[in-house]
Amino acid sequence: MKSISILGSTGSIGTQTLEVARWRGYEVAALGAGKNLDLLLEQVQMFKPKLVACDKTVAAQLEPQLPTGTKLVPGPEGLEEVAQYPVNSVVAAISGSAGLKSTVAALKAGQHVALANKEAMVVAGPLVWEVARKHGGTITPVDSEHSALFQCLVGEQKSAVDKLVLTASGGPFRLKPHDLSQVTPEQALKHPNWAMGAKVTIDSSTLFNKGLEVLEAHYLFELPLRQIEVVIHPQSLIHSLVRFQDGNIKAQIGPHDMRLPIHYALEYPKRPQIPLEPLDLKGTWELHEPDTKRFPCLSLAYQAGEMGGVAPCALNAADEVAVEAFLAKRIAYTDIAKLLEQSLEQLENIPLSWDAIEETDKLTRRLLT
Ligand code: MG
Repeated sequence: MKSISILGSTGSIGTQTLEVARWRGYEVAALGAGKNLDLLLEQVQMFKPKLVACDKTVAAQLEPQLPTGTKLVPGPEGLEEVAQYPVNSVVAAISGSAGLKSTVAALKAGQHVALANKEAMVVAGPLVWEVARKHGGTITPVDSEHSALFQCLVGEQKSAVDKLVLTASGGPFRLKPHDLSQVTPEQALKHPNWAMGAKVTIDSSTLFNKGLEVLEAHYLFELPLRQIEVVIHPQSLIHSLVRFQDGNIKAQIGPHDMRLPIHYALEYPKRPQIPLEPLDLKGTWELHEPDTKRFPCLSLAYQAGEMGGVAPCALNAADEVAVEAFLAKRIAYTDIAKLLEQSLEQLENIPLSWDAIEETDKLTRRLLT
């Protein structure tokens, strides 16, 4: 029986991973979560993990309700302990820069990581690979676009790749309203195709999520930014494509259901059957050029990638601050891009290191709040 652990078990990817675990009968050996006590307790009682980590503020309430044989490890150290607990696969699904440390801890322990936390690659890609290679850790992407690219690249040589083409739904505001400054959090939280957490849903609507994914692809597949393109595909059925030097193009297609890429990352290279309806191929499939004037966040991500160093880290921190402020109705929708631009303008860029990342993250948040 395959054993897994989940960092971020109460989030969108975490809960869907547990559904996949039920399909396949995996042993869920360790769970790490934040403050969602009720859901975590439900998960712990159902899967009876050996180890569970949660935020320190809810640890005292969780402890007396744990089943016998489940050990509680509170706080950020607890998440690292979950990451290191020996399993077949660690699903790294804590969103944002908060997920970086535990993802790295898993790789340092030589684990296989099913990577849903894109920020680890975005802010620290080369350093993450260094750790993985040194300690024998391996990475399979969970992000649907990167899973698609990974699947298209199986059996191919990297030198044969012309372009990685990431698809983007374009979000709810692709065509309207004309004036984006009036967009409310409620409107931005309604994604046309995917059900996801709040931060990534807002990021999808501004195309910043695609910007993060461009950077993620750049570092994950270790290809230059000029070989990475974005195409708008409102139906979200083609999850990404690879153009090869010989003119052939491979695309990966499937229903927009995150359980598929999660399942693939955990079962690769096998493709066992799953209890889902097959995709109906009939219908209209569109592909369009992204509108970077209307959605400048995508271009800003390319810009940060070209700058290198800690620029992607600063941009990512700025977006976390900006989205939080927008959700709390402190800034307008169009101010998100302005804050991102500001973070790059005021950045004194330095070479990438773990210390530089921590400093830049802190400094950017301080300057923008
Ligand atoms: Mg994605």
